[in-house]
Amino acid sequence: MARMIRIFDTTLRDGEQSPGASMTVEEKIMIAKQLARLGVDIIEAGFAYSSPGDFEAVQRIAQEVEGPTVCSLARARPEDIDRAWEALKGGGPQVRIHTFLSTSDIHLKHQFRMTREEALKRAVEMVQRARSYVEDVEFSPMDASRSDPSYLCEVVEAVIEAGAGTVNIPDTVGYATPGEMGALIKRLRERVKHCDRAVLSVHCHNDLGLAVANSLSSIVNGAGQVECTINGIGERAGNASLEEIVMGLRTRKDFYQADTQVRTEEIAKTSRLVSKITGMVVQSNKAIVGANAFAHTSGIHQDGLLKDKSTYEIMRPETVGMGQSEMVMGKLSGRHAFRQKLESLGYQLSDEEVNHAFDRFKRLADQKKEIFEEDLEVIVSEEAARMPERYVLVSLRSESGTDQVPTATVELEIDGRRMTQAGSGDGPVDAAYRTIASMTGTKSRLLSYIVHAITGGTDAQGEVTVRVEENGRTASGHGSDTDIIVASARAYLNALNKISFWVSGESDPLRKIGVLDRRARPR
Ligand code: MN
Repeated sequence: MARMIRIFDTTLRDGEQSPGASMTVEEKIMIAKQLARLGVDIIEAGFAYSSPGDFEAVQRIAQEVEGPTVCSLARARPEDIDRAWEALKGGGPQVRIHTFLSTSDIHLKHQFRMTREEALKRAVEMVQRARSYVEDVEFSPMDASRSDPSYLCEVVEAVIEAGAGTVNIPDTVGYATPGEMGALIKRLRERVKHCDRAVLSVHCHNDLGLAVANSLSSIVNGAGQVECTINGIGERAGNASLEEIVMGLRTRKDFYQADTQVRTEEIAKTSRLVSKITGMVVQSNKAIVGANAFAHTSGIHQDGLLKDKSTYEIMRPETVGMGQSEMVMGKLSGRHAFRQKLESLGYQLSDEEVNHAFDRFKRLADQKKEIFEEDLEVIVSEEAARMPERYVLVSLRSESGTDQVPTATVELEIDGRRMTQAGSGDGPVDAAYRTIASMTGTKSRLLSYIVHAITGGTDAQGEVTVRVEENGRTASGHGSDTDIIVASARAYLNALNKISFWVSGESDPLRKIGVLDRRARPR
């Protein structure tokens, strides 16, 4: 019998700490709903104390997303734990508070300025405080892999005694080797009294490219939960990637004797959604979800595959939802069929959202004969992640060619007022961007600009992802259209709208930096 390993997804918390990956609350809810469809066990929805935006995300995900346990991170401080509970208390039956405190001498001495005794006492008190609110409490001794193992055992024993149902062992700085990580888990299981009363978990970072290997080695040695993110996004080099751990266990169940509840067919879709929303593109040779992950080019391999799939394929692309995309709808499809199709793909939209999405669909169907599942995903994600827009594209005309100066004429609605302006540039996209910059008065800098085709064919929708920086804030924006210049303008405006929304509103993800002092940066 395979042991079931709990998948703790932290895409919305640690993943969001990737530079430039800040998400709006609506975007986080969209991802959380997809994580529920994927079948993860726990969603770490944010760090409630760190910003009003994170608080709202935790609160709404706890209320609106069914299935997984919803968790908020909290430092080992009373105000953090209370705030996490505030955010979680109106939610469903399964909520968790995850509190953390460093146990390494390096951190205690230089960052927290606490003695080992003080840290141990604080950890116990904060676990008890969290337990006074919820049954389900997780504790992480930050920088565990660089902590003195005997002191670590003491802390783990004490927090289990205090009521932590999960103890997570983070390799915060990605320093451990698979052998060490496995040995550490084994040692804890042998040395800590009543260790089996809690689930041991690991949280591995990828600084040396070992996050997944360290996680799997920990599982072999008895860890019952792994913390990971979609596409492996996260601080610095990122976290262990969910899809690699899940498919590692599934494909080599014979070796690991362990498995997860994840519905692997949802993996590719989840990966695309996270990549699109965060603006973090997946490298084509990435395991499981890269564009080339199932592409065989060697003649010998192709020959083998034609004779029998098992010759060179250890996983089927369909298993992770990477199969051939099917044409799902066309120009003549009606609103009812459209809604049904969305439901069969797992999307629950309000009537108003369906109407908006249907209008987009009809416009697209006029431009493009066949509409694929991926096209619908894009439409739905853009509708569901809507936010108040200060700048709206009304129309765009661009001219370019081999023998003329590229120009663009842009009509925008800015704060409800229509205006039109024309300008030129080095190319049609540059002309459109310069014109939009002049109309909006933005002082932002374009950090990156990436185009990709959503489906095959020259009539495919182009999807543009940009990253824009202004006053130290980085926003990603995306836009899609069969016309690449229009898609580019939409992406740019989407990023500018986010920046303007954050500046005006309470939900500025970057306020975190103001709220948290330097020593309090999360794991
Ligand atoms: Mn981390």
